[in-house]
Amino acid sequence: MAVPKRRLSTSKRDRRRGNIYIKAPTLVKCQKCGKPVLPHTICGFCGNYKGRDYLSVVSKVEKPAIVKTPKATKKPKDTKKKAA
Ligand SMILES: [Zn+2]
Repeated sequence: MAVPKRRLSTSKRDRRRGNIYIKAPTLVKCQKCGKPVLPHTICGFCGNYKGRDYLSVVSKVEKPAIVKTPKATKKPKDTKKKAA
C-alpha cells in the first residue's frame, strides 16, 4: 500500500480543497421559447434544438380524474332485517 512520504501542510491541503465547490450550470436561451436550457441539449419545455422540433411536448397535461374506489366496509350486525 502506498504511503505518503511527507504530511501535507494545511496550506497545501486547503489549496487543493479550495477548488471543490458546486458551480452554477451554464445556461443558454432556447431559440424557440426563450427559456433557459443547458447548451447542446434539446429544450425540455418545447422540444426544440437548433431550430428543429425533436420532441412533441405536451404543454398542458390534465390530471386524470381520481376515481374513488369504494372500500369494502363491514356492515354492522344489527342492521340485518329480522323476518317477522
Ligand atoms: Zn424551448
